[in-house]
Amino acid sequence: MEAPLQQLHSPLWEEQGITLWVKREDLLHPTISGNKWRKLKYNLQQAKRLQHSTLLTFGGAYSNHIAAVAAAGEEFGFRTIGIIRGEEHLPLNPTLSFASSAGMKLHYISREAYRHKSDPVYLVQLAEQFGNPYIIPEGGTNALAVKGCTEIVTDIPIDYDYICCASGTGGTISGIIAGLEGEKQVLGFLALKGGEFLKEEIEQLIDRYNGQRYHNWQLITDYHFGGYAKVKPELLDFMRDFQKEHQLPLEPVYTGKMFFGLVDLIRQGYFPRGSRIVAVHTGGLQGNAGFKERLGIVV
Ligand SMILES: *Cc1c(COP(=O)(O)O)cnc(C)c1O
Repeated sequence: MEAPLQQLHSPLWEEQGITLWVKREDLLHPTISGNKWRKLKYNLQQAKRLQHSTLLTFGGAYSNHIAAVAAAGEEFGFRTIGIIRGEEHLPLNPTLSFASSAGMKLHYISREAYRHKSDPVYLVQLAEQFGNPYIIPEGGTNALAVKGCTEIVTDIPIDYDYICCASGTGGTISGIIAGLEGEKQVLGFLALKGGEFLKEEIEQLIDRYNGQRYHNWQLITDYHFGGYAKVKPELLDFMRDFQKEHQLPLEPVYTGKMFFGLVDLIRQGYFPRGSRIVAVHTGGLQGNAGFKERLGIVV
């Protein structure tokens, strides 16, 4: 399994002396995609060590994490249970259909009940109900996930100045920041509204992982396009052109928004001349089938 670096060429940045690479984490694994593989790695080891036979986790109906846990369970010999936000819709959408065919048992709960997904009392209740599974939080984000994501940066063999990623729960950027130990600049492009909340969350995740506090990172909050999984024609047009120009597959929830934001920042002159930038492709391409089915959008 490898996540190679792909250099992207365009007059837009090359005229500014900027070099841009993509770290292709989307190529790490065919079904346990990108950052979700990084986040699961040490959780799977921990689940084995503690002799759990079942993994239980949480997600929305199109969740990349749900798909990844289902695939990981099948590959590494765990039963899997997905606690899915909202009502069941049949036929299953492409994400849940995939998860189900990988053996995941889907358990639907109301949006109201889903809000309790991190309450200790609710987790104890779930543990009793489902026979003591290893519980992985929504999006896979916990201290072991942060540890796994530090390997995104230890796996980059070149020197650079900036590293960019898309951020949802903040687990991935926490690992990148911790892995860099204060070196370079880290930019997280928010896939959702609510940057202030996430900033604290990231600080806590890093603190829980290694007790450190770093200042070489920033959240970019201007490119969420109305909120999580929301799209606009401007975003889709950008993605279509960008994919064609660079032969790079994107999806609209995370990586499309990150590249839109990154190109916009380059255009605005945000990066000093000569900057070397690595953009992390966090994967998530399985979600495109759901966009097509739901909105008729071909990405
Ligand atoms: C889950 C996901 C993210 C967000 O990662 P966090 O660790 O939750 O911030 C980014 N990109 C893709 C493709 C994802 O699936």
